[in-house]
Amino acid sequence: MSKLDIITHFINGERSDTQSGRYADVFNPALGVPVARVALGTTAEVNAAVAAAAAAFPAWSNTPPLTRARVLFRYLQLVQQHADEFATMLTREHGKTFSDAQGEVARGIEVIEYAVGIPQLLKGEFTDQIARGIDAWSMRQPLGVVAGITPFNFPVMVPMWMFPIALACGNTFVLKPSERDPSPSLLHAELLKQAGLPNGVFNVVQGDKETVEALLDNPSVQAISFVGSTPIAEYIYARGCANGKRVQALGGAKNHMVVMPDADMQQAVDALIGAAYGSAGERCMAISVAVAVGDAGDKLIAALAERTRALKVKDGMDKDAEMGPVVTAAAKQRIESLIGQGVKEGATLVVDGRDCKVKGRENGFFVGGTLFDHVTPEMSIYKEEIFGPVLCVLRAPDIASAVDLINRHEYGNGVAVFTRDGGVAREFVRQIQVGMVGVNVPLPVPMAFNSFGGWKRSMFGDHHVYGPEGVRFYTRHKAVMQRWPNTASAGVEFAFPQMK
Ligand code: NAD
Repeated sequence: MSKLDIITHFINGERSDTQSGRYADVFNPALGVPVARVALGTTAEVNAAVAAAAAAFPAWSNTPPLTRARVLFRYLQLVQQHADEFATMLTREHGKTFSDAQGEVARGIEVIEYAVGIPQLLKGEFTDQIARGIDAWSMRQPLGVVAGITPFNFPVMVPMWMFPIALACGNTFVLKPSERDPSPSLLHAELLKQAGLPNGVFNVVQGDKETVEALLDNPSVQAISFVGSTPIAEYIYARGCANGKRVQALGGAKNHMVVMPDADMQQAVDALIGAAYGSAGERCMAISVAVAVGDAGDKLIAALAERTRALKVKDGMDKDAEMGPVVTAAAKQRIESLIGQGVKEGATLVVDGRDCKVKGRENGFFVGGTLFDHVTPEMSIYKEEIFGPVLCVLRAPDIASAVDLINRHEYGNGVAVFTRDGGVAREFVRQIQVGMVGVNVPLPVPMAFNSFGGWKRSMFGDHHVYGPEGVRFYTRHKAVMQRWPNTASAGVEFAFPQMK
């Protein structure tokens, strides 16, 4: 029997181990060794969590929005107090650098700050006297039990894209976090409880495919928010919708950054280095393709090569680390095999990050910064999401061909253009078929009061996450018309009602 800590479920206000006897190892990717084991939930455990959430729904949904907001306000303060504990967990199980982990926590906190404004956000619209003696208004009501299924790469922030808003709207929640870095989910649950959230309103079921399928098939689950890779997102969307649920499923990405010849080259290079290699490229908004327009290519490659070679790849807890390891041995192997494929398909490998060794961390899952030039649209390194520290540079003769290239890619999550020409930037913003666009901003991740989401095969469903779109996703619209009996009856009407 292993002595490693077990990361459990959190159902109806209590931690509970799995009855399945199934566990998965959770690794510290910098050390390359397991540091904990996570319980893998059964259908019965999912059903118990959903039942607890369903039982908690009537009281929570009837709690005034301001009282719900006050619980979230106390939770906000607790998350702020525990921010570095979240960040430490993140670096330990995900591998990202500590400062990057602190940034992730801060971006999650933003969503709670938005959600505490829920009394204002849920206000409906009222129209006096739509007909004689009749008033009308609209209101938004919570859905019931909703579920979140989240990826490994933002284990603190991505769940926070979902549950603060879902709870503020009056729903109850079941979270199925990634099995690679599950610890932050329990800290969220404990802090919500400490903030005064009633038992059953927020539950965590750890697990994998079996756990997810139990959520998709449970008839009490009204809506599913998913973030992860495109094949799983598409499957979740199809199965969830077939089961009559509301689904938003965010998938993978291949984010391009266009560098025009008039761009500030220093600014563009700094932006590319941070956006391509930050978090070892394991961000859905990472820039993985640079499109150099006209004569920008040679200048760009020379500067990028020097900076890529100089990247400080270390254990994420090292104060001067710029890039940590990737999440698993399998991820390292997959990324390195795609680099090999790029070479085979004829791209120029300018900097090779394979066989990266970090002193004192010889078993860690490290891949060094990798730079390819002369990549073409047919190559697998261009078509596939590599999700590692690999930047591909393509050349385009003009902005129109760059836009056309990006619009033909199956993904449409984020994109950026670097230029000094306002006209070029404006047309780019209007023509590009991508959900989030940056002008001289490499990672245009919307703040909590706007909403986040991609286009094309980067997202399935109608509502983006958090912000106003999140409030719409987690509520149903209701229209009401009201007449009091003290107005005279118009008599029986057989014609379709018209306002007079
Ligand atoms: P993943 O798709 O492997 O896993 C996501 C979730 O789905 C996890 O909770 C996992 O347990 C579950 N899952 C995995 N396989 C499953 C299966 N066969 N059936 C049912 N459930 C399954 O994704 P990941 O590797 O954890 O995360 C990386 C991916 O997430 C990348 O593709 C990245 O682009 C994407 N991502 C997208 C966004 C976005 O906003 N669009 C944000 C973050 C990450």
